[in-house]
Amino acid sequence: MTTSPAILPKHKPHVVIIGAGFGGLSATRALAKSPVDITLIDKHNYHLFQPLLYQVATAALSPAQIAQPIRAIVRKQKNCVTEMGEVHGIDTARKIVLSSVGETPYDYLIVATGATHDYFGHTDWTQTAPGLKSIDDATLIRRRILQAFEQAETTEDKNLRRALLTFTVVGAGPTGVEMAGAIAELARHTLKGEFRRIDPASARIILAEAGPRVLAAFPEKLSQEALKDLEKIGVEVKTGRAVNSCDADEVIIGDEVIPCRTIIWAAGVKASPAAAWLEAKTDKAGRAIVEADYSLPSQPDVFVIGDTANLTDAAGNSVPGLAPAAVQAGKYVAGVIRKRAAQEPAPPPFKYFDAGTMATIGRGKAIALIRGVAFGGFIAWWTWGLIHIMPLIGFRNRIIVGLDWLWSYFTNTRGARLITAYKK
Ligand SMILES: Cc1cc2nc3c(=O)[nH]c(=O)nc-3n(C[C@H](O)[C@H](O)[C@H](O)COP(=O)(O)OP(=O)(O)OC[C@H]3O[C@@H](n4cnc5c(N)ncnc54)[C@H](O)[C@@H]3O)c2cc1C
Repeated sequence: MTTSPAILPKHKPHVVIIGAGFGGLSATRALAKSPVDITLIDKHNYHLFQPLLYQVATAALSPAQIAQPIRAIVRKQKNCVTEMGEVHGIDTARKIVLSSVGETPYDYLIVATGATHDYFGHTDWTQTAPGLKSIDDATLIRRRILQAFEQAETTEDKNLRRALLTFTVVGAGPTGVEMAGAIAELARHTLKGEFRRIDPASARIILAEAGPRVLAAFPEKLSQEALKDLEKIGVEVKTGRAVNSCDADEVIIGDEVIPCRTIIWAAGVKASPAAAWLEAKTDKAGRAIVEADYSLPSQPDVFVIGDTANLTDAAGNSVPGLAPAAVQAGKYVAGVIRKRAAQEPAPPPFKYFDAGTMATIGRGKAIALIRGVAFGGFIAWWTWGLIHIMPLIGFRNRIIVGLDWLWSYFTNTRGARLITAYKK
């Protein structure tokens, strides 16, 4: 006996979303009330607020304050199933995602796997100069920084002590500037008076940048202001010279050899390998070149968003690799899928809304470019704080992070100074 199609339960489109970062999560939430079934796959069990990672790496915040379990976030979203698994391929002919937990078929696919570090071919530097992208990276960097002070306190070797008290951050974009500023504050203020044989304030903090100025994406005036602020808090800024070598004992900037035990990589970003899984055309950073609606040219049911995508929007602007851009892309693609599933006309092409960019340099210091207005100093710092607290997931996290910041602003303390997974 055959069943008439009219009485078969209606098949809901299955949307598979890879990545529960800013883009993937925003698409998931935007599809909450849509007649679709969602499978959200991530290799981690948490959503991470990357903009505050440097605060975990410098012991100001603890990991749980900037990360939230994905299952808890989508607990009430009944049309969403969560899978913890690492995707390693996509079979576009069979419309199947291949991951460590098996094969997941899709009707629509949203790929939002973000970006990773780019060592510009020097893959041997990854161990010596870790980058900052995940909680594991941040706790590793935190351990190296705090351990360097501990080892400097106990060594009798003057040269080793100097190398231990030298910290180099490579790359003076927002992450590099924030890291260098935070290490300087840790050394000059937080650790003051806590050691008996060394003076933590004597630590040398170097910020190396191959380009001509710090924060090159900001107007020259703001970049100058940031440079002055960095120098004021004791960061040595070396611009116009690339790092030519780094190993466990030293870093070579241009032709200057600097004995240094802690190096942090904040110089380059490249897309996740998603474009390769999809055999999509890429730009130099490995980002998939997508259509105006974020779909792939020959695969209209596959969308690539966020840091993994290269899109020039309807206004002719190149969409940046920033959290708000990924969030907007996630919402937009959810709308495209909704319309397509309902057989309604497609929405107009994506247009990025630029709410501005900011970078903080240290306690009470930041620069901002918001709707074309450039400003710096204390007001920019408070604005930065508000803008970074509001999108944190969970009311509790917002309150706790806000209180922690206020406490450390007035007391100069950092509450998460734990050396975990200690290694000699
Ligand atoms: C240190 C740092 C500071 C930053 N500061 C700012 C800032 O101040 N302001 C700002 O706007 N932006 C900032 N950014 C950039 C911003 O975080 C990114 O633009 C944004 O996260 C991109 O969102 P996304 O969804 O594309 O990727 P992500 O948010 O990175 O999410 C990618 C997700 O995919 C998952 N994933 C990756 N590979 C796989 C796989 N193979 N299988 C399964 N899951 C996978 C990851 O676990 C992750 O959850 C910063 C980034 C970093 C690293």
